[in-house]
Amino acid sequence: MTTVISSHLGYPRIGENREWKKTLERFWSGKINKDTFLQDIEELRLHHLQKQKDQNIDLIPVGDFSLYDHVLDTSVMFGVIPERFEYSGGPVPLETYFAIARGNQKAVASEMTKWFNTNYHYIVPELGGAEPKITENRPLKFYREAKEKLGISGKPVILGPITYLKLSKGYKPEEFQALLNKFVPLYITILQELEKEGVEWVQIDEPILATSLEAQDIDIFKETYEAFSSSLTDLNILLQTYFEGLDHYQEVVSLPVQGIGIDFIHDEGANWASIKKYGFPKDKVLAAGIIDGRNIWRSNLKEKLEWLQEIVETTRVETLFVQPSSSLLHVPVTVKNESKLSSTLANALSFADEKLEEIALLTKGLCQGASAIENEINESIAAVEAINESISRNVPQVRDAIRNLSGFSSKRNASFKERYKIQLQEFQLPLLPTTTIGSLPQTPEVRKARRAWKSGEWSNEEYDRFVKEQMDEGIKLQEEIGLDVLVHGEFERNDMVEYFGEKLGGFETSSNGWVQSYGSRCVKPPLIYGDVHFIKPITVKESVYAQSLTNKPVKGMLTGPQTILNWSFVRDDIPRHEVAYQIALALRKEVETLEAEGIKMIQVDEPALREGLPLKQNKWEAYLEKAVYAFRLATSSVKDSTQIHTHMCYSEFDDIIDTISALDADVISIEAARSHGEIIRTFEEKVYDKGIGLGVYDIHSPRIPEVKEIEDILKRALQVLDPELFWINPDCGLKTRKKDEVAASLKSMVEAAKKIREQL
Ligand code: GLN
Ligand code: ZN
Repeated sequence: MTTVISSHLGYPRIGENREWKKTLERFWSGKINKDTFLQDIEELRLHHLQKQKDQNIDLIPVGDFSLYDHVLDTSVMFGVIPERFEYSGGPVPLETYFAIARGNQKAVASEMTKWFNTNYHYIVPELGGAEPKITENRPLKFYREAKEKLGISGKPVILGPITYLKLSKGYKPEEFQALLNKFVPLYITILQELEKEGVEWVQIDEPILATSLEAQDIDIFKETYEAFSSSLTDLNILLQTYFEGLDHYQEVVSLPVQGIGIDFIHDEGANWASIKKYGFPKDKVLAAGIIDGRNIWRSNLKEKLEWLQEIVETTRVETLFVQPSSSLLHVPVTVKNESKLSSTLANALSFADEKLEEIALLTKGLCQGASAIENEINESIAAVEAINESISRNVPQVRDAIRNLSGFSSKRNASFKERYKIQLQEFQLPLLPTTTIGSLPQTPEVRKARRAWKSGEWSNEEYDRFVKEQMDEGIKLQEEIGLDVLVHGEFERNDMVEYFGEKLGGFETSSNGWVQSYGSRCVKPPLIYGDVHFIKPITVKESVYAQSLTNKPVKGMLTGPQTILNWSFVRDDIPRHEVAYQIALALRKEVETLEAEGIKMIQVDEPALREGLPLKQNKWEAYLEKAVYAFRLATSSVKDSTQIHTHMCYSEFDDIIDTISALDADVISIEAARSHGEIIRTFEEKVYDKGIGLGVYDIHSPRIPEVKEIEDILKRALQVLDPELFWINPDCGLKTRKKDEVAASLKSMVEAAKKIREQL
């Protein structure tokens, strides 16, 4: 008989109504003092734990809650504080903790970057010269709190040492082992203290195991976890992996730990295949992640229960944990407050609380038999069937189009060389044309106007007039500055994905579906629940109006299929790339409409193309091929004289230059200044033979770049890039900047362009 236990890996911090965010921001702005803040936070933390207990979760994670980020928590626990924050030992003050995350008057914040392939950002540990020591046993503290205040014997969660070090910076690869040797004894102390306290299970997260690792990395795992195991007697270690399959499955499940946590959802079937092929050690606990921790769809409980039964039969493990595939940090809190959605859609959703309910039900079904949860099984089947069979998921034109994709060209009529010649004729631009990325400042005035319109206080006419006035001013400013290719300014858009989501068929916006992106910042990804289709023009009115104000070309401005996909919650009943193609076909109609209405340059932004790369390198090619195809599907039906632009930013580009070229856009504008022009080096080795603009100044800073500085950047870039194909632009959109900053910075840019042109 297998013992079955319900558990999970981590709960959202933000609260049902983003209470967490609000408290944090009140504290940061000085509206509440530290005591009130800490009290609010404790209440929230305990409330979340109580909720999980009420949901009948047997083994509840503790210590996963954070005031900002769990990687930062780990750094602080080990006293890994960059020198500039002047930490001198002892418990790390709250002020220092937030300063590392957010910067202060004296020191800049630590870098932040994406947590694996999610949209959650962590604070990158700076290990340069670190002499780690334990500043407090954080997991123990939260274990005790849950036990004393709520009678919960929780499962402390810690980020494992190997993942932690691999995510850190400030050391050379050959220093890895020496650093690890410093951390291992500290981890052992933490674990021994937990053991002494009587903790039964500790969850050590090592998601790095789900990436492509070398054999020698696996040896490091063996040594490290042997060191842990030989220092403990009673404490059980659950080695938790997530986000992908395990390439070194046999070695991983043989590590000297008591339980292995495996993702059965985001592995494309690899883990289940490994279990069927190699089995699973009977003496270990299998923590089976079978409810999707990263997406929001309700499960068919019958299928899940049958799968769990098969897992039990195949492995014959003594103990099985039923759990989500990853932490629930990546999904919103509850569907309960979604009153605006259709009942078919609302019924088909499962956020964090609903997922815990599913976990508890499956556990019950496994222990007592399917009949014990018969009603719930039937409800779940009905809900999933209802949405799958709904017309929204079966739009005939979309189905036909996807079946006949080959009927849509994905190739421009003429080659780039031929087109570009025609376009030069058409636009009569100077050498090194200057342009911007799309958005102009979203001033408080703009945001206020949108709010007034959304709340019904302003009529459509009033709001349209306002947006037009903004465009009048924006176009006038760009002409005064002397830019060559203009933009309409994106004043009508709240967000580059949400705006399209609101206007395309197959999308819905939740009222409260927030997830943490970084720190207190939350995002509300649109829900792509049905077949995506074009309903009516999305951006044409604004683009045409802006173009009517000037003789210079104004770029139409769209968000690309891969970026829309990456920043949304996507239906999972059909492959993701098929959804990307649906979006692409809808955008293709928008592109064609813009062209028909006289717009001659159209930019399709793909800033998220690079970040959507799979964790495993051997899956890159297939992903990139589909992303390229989707982009081309959206953009290739235009005339030779219509110029297609794209834009990308804040990623590493050196390994995807060929992909960028394969998009076959006439011009790409790419961020380069923020990353200190590193990308220029790539072009020393690789030829890029289409139009390209490298960002000449960082738009994150209010600082106005000097003409000379931009000239230097341009000179350097022109050593490796062809002046006939070179464009000049900032790194990214200007929406976060103030108007006067934008005017002054762009003036410097245009001035530098003039100077360099004279020298060519
Ligand atoms: N066109 C968008 C803008 O200018 C692009 C934003 C982005 O790359 N994230 O704001
Ligand atoms: Zn950008």
